Amino acid sequence: MHTTHPRYMGLFNPTPTWWGVAGELIAAGVNPQLAAQSHAPAAVEMERHVLRYLAARLGLPEQAEGSFTVGGAEANLTAVVVALTRRHPGYADAGLAGLPRRPRRPVLYASAESHHAWLKIAHLTGLGREAVRLVPADAAYRFDVARLRALLDADIASGHEPFLLIGTAGTTGGGVLDPLPQLAYVAGEFGMHFHVDAACAGAVALSDRLRPLLAGVERADSVTVDAHKWLSAPMGAGMFLTAHPDALAESFRVSTSYMPADSETTADPYLTSVQWSRRFAGLKVFLALAAVGRQGYAEQVERDTALGELLARRLTEEGWLRINDTPLPVVCVVDPDRDAAGPERSWAWHAAVADRVVRGGEAWLSPVRLAGRPAVRLCLTSHRTRSEDVEAVVSALGAARTAPRGA
Ligand SMILES: *Cc1c(COP(=O)(O)O)cnc(C)c1O
Repeated sequence: MHTTHPRYMGLFNPTPTWWGVAGELIAAGVNPQLAAQSHAPAAVEMERHVLRYLAARLGLPEQAEGSFTVGGAEANLTAVVVALTRRHPGYADAGLAGLPRRPRRPVLYASAESHHAWLKIAHLTGLGREAVRLVPADAAYRFDVARLRALLDADIASGHEPFLLIGTAGTTGGGVLDPLPQLAYVAGEFGMHFHVDAACAGAVALSDRLRPLLAGVERADSVTVDAHKWLSAPMGAGMFLTAHPDALAESFRVSTSYMPADSETTADPYLTSVQWSRRFAGLKVFLALAAVGRQGYAEQVERDTALGELLARRLTEEGWLRINDTPLPVVCVVDPDRDAAGPERSWAWHAAVADRVVRGGEAWLSPVRLAGRPAVRLCLTSHRTRSEDVEAVVSALGAARTAPRGA
């Protein structure tokens, strides 16, 4: 099953909008060079417009700036570099070797349910994977603030330096929203950079009704939003936003004789991004927004959310037990009897059921573990999905559940 199918209930990969596809084609044909403002002034302006518009919808301060990225992982990498640069001005030139001997090690904190690109990022920034504290989630798979506090105290006592706290708005497994206001408070108390990874859920900023789900994001020092997830852009289009444009500029500063001089009004994008030559990724988002408007996106995320509620209700009626608690259209269910049989047997059974559905070609869904607990995961990200599709997936899952072993 292709990822653009209305019954692909998968890994946040959307059905692209027609305007998004047109944007890809135009960007490829015109091929503007997004490194330098002087080479593509209109393109740079369109990207800045989208970034500023989104920053305003998220409630970030007026000076917020950002950059388009390949995806969420690059945006999260940018967050770590910016956070380190804000904390240690010497990091830019002397690197980690230039940090004071004490504290021993800069450490960052994310929920164990967060996106694990943090480990790769810690590796490649030189922090090392051991610098990532994956805090075990609470019973609802949310960031456990009490555990975080205990870990912070222990780390500080052993001479480490907490510098970055990450809240996830829409965890990849369970679609769970971390308690952003509490995390913002703790970040402030310990002087940590507060990053919100809203790769998936950032889209709800476009809906007046759903935007309150992101309460607390306005206090973030930086935010990740993926346009190629719930904003239905073709891959790849991520966005990094920060309330500290000076730290972003400091993170990527460089000067060469062969690049055109910086314009007076706008920083060249290659100076605010890991990338240098860059494709016009923002066009597909700009065009889709221009065509359907904020209202068009609001209607989509509200409809998807309502379909997610319908899916959860129907599965519950069929005897499945929902184990994740989120208003986002991510539904993780277990068969209560198999769930009680222990994680190993439960995983084998739930994975086999998901596999049967996928092999039948009726729908795509996947097994997942939430804090180790196996389940079947269904996630709505196609703007083509309708209630008939929800019903079809519920019956495909029902058939797979009762199929004889090995069928
Ligand atoms: C998908 C995802 C990422 C990674 O984004 P890519 O676009 O795949 O690089 C990061 N964080 C969260 C919460 C995600 O869901």
